[in-house]
Amino acid sequence: MPVFEINVNRRHPVNIDVTCIGATLLIDQTLVNDIAAVFPLEPIPSNDDIARCTYDKKNGGSYSGPCSDCSEIAEFFACKRWNQPSAIEYRRFGDATSLMTQSAFNYFLPGWMTASIIDRLAADVVPDYLISTMSGRSEYKANRIEECYNYLIDSQLNCVKRFINWYHGDENWVDKDVVNALERIDRRVFVNKTST
Ligand SMILES: [Zn+2]
Repeated sequence: MPVFEINVNRRHPVNIDVTCIGATLLIDQTLVNDIAAVFPLEPIPSNDDIARCTYDKKNGGSYSGPCSDCSEIAEFFACKRWNQPSAIEYRRFGDATSLMTQSAFNYFLPGWMTASIIDRLAADVVPDYLISTMSGRSEYKANRIEECYNYLIDSQLNCVKRFINWYHGDENWVDKDVVNALERIDRRVFVNKTST
């Protein structure tokens, strides 16, 4: 398995110090392959099931129709497979991790994870967006992410868990989002096990 090292110094990507091992993350090609093996490319979500705008009247808001952010997300991801957007595009639409419908989030989740692993520099804050969404910090996020996890099978949950561990690496600080996300996944795996 070829192993590449890339620098993840986000703020100053020009000043790359290749000797600074603490600032590097390895590309986990096995995880990239496993993600591709367990997350299907089809079926893609339908065009009216991509963004869920909470400002929209039909979702309890006061706008008649979705906001411009949600409209852009719906337009960009329409008719795309999860392996089509580039890391830069996934980065541009990083906030979609919290604005997508359950089915669209689950469908594009492997794309965000893969982009983060293979192009760490371009994907930039994508892992932070993802892990924050997956930790379910607010009540709305908590309900939504639990719903998302309900539709993931164990092999997919396992990849999500490996992704979080890959990102967190050997850091010795404790990130509350990471801890919460991992706990949620473990609970879901436990429920899956005891309900079969
Ligand atoms: Zn919106």
